[in-house]
Amino acid sequence: MNLIGKKVRHSSYGQGTVTAFYPANNTIRLVFENQPERPYDILADFDSGLLESDEQAIHETIAYIKSLPSYRLSSKALGERKTKDKDLSAFLTDCQQLLEELGIKIGVIESVGVENRLDRWGVCKSLGNGRFRILISQILLQDEAPDWMVYQTLLHELLHAAEACCGHGHNKKWKQLAAIINRKCGYDISAKDRWFDYLLLDAVGSWPHFKR
Ligand SMILES: [Zn+2]
Repeated sequence: MNLIGKKVRHSSYGQGTVTAFYPANNTIRLVFENQPERPYDILADFDSGLLESDEQAIHETIAYIKSLPSYRLSSKALGERKTKDKDLSAFLTDCQQLLEELGIKIGVIESVGVENRLDRWGVCKSLGNGRFRILISQILLQDEAPDWMVYQTLLHELLHAAEACCGHGHNKKWKQLAAIINRKCGYDISAKDRWFDYLLLDAVGSWPHFKR
């Protein structure tokens, strides 16, 4: 359970650690360094501004989770939903422009498609000879989903198609380039878990494309 052990900051109590998560009532238990004997259970909705961390990402994430019907959409329900609210090609152009600015050379992207599944945000498939196909989860393209989710996933997957790291997963070169993109764009596209990813597991699946 990747949420456990994550460090968060409380405006009054300072540095704390998540010691438990109760998905049934969306509550996390925090133990603060200055009061280790007294754990606090708080709602993991963060609307109260209790937690200071990656505020923007967390607020958007929680708002998005709340917008999902019962937090769980079946793949079937997604398949029946006809609309694709966001224009994926516009996001792709933005991302390719950013990579070009940074001098990161990408292989040939044969296609970027949408997939109806809930176990990953996206994937980049090698087709051989420096050609790639990228798939993005449809749930990220719904209007209610914050844009950073699409940008972050696309940049992560495009980096798998970078000439410097193609076919080698999240290798050293991939991580170096990811760090450059993170600095430039302000997202976190690295393969490691962010603490709120656990909250999104049921709704979107594993970031970025792992099985846990
Ligand atoms: Zn990856």
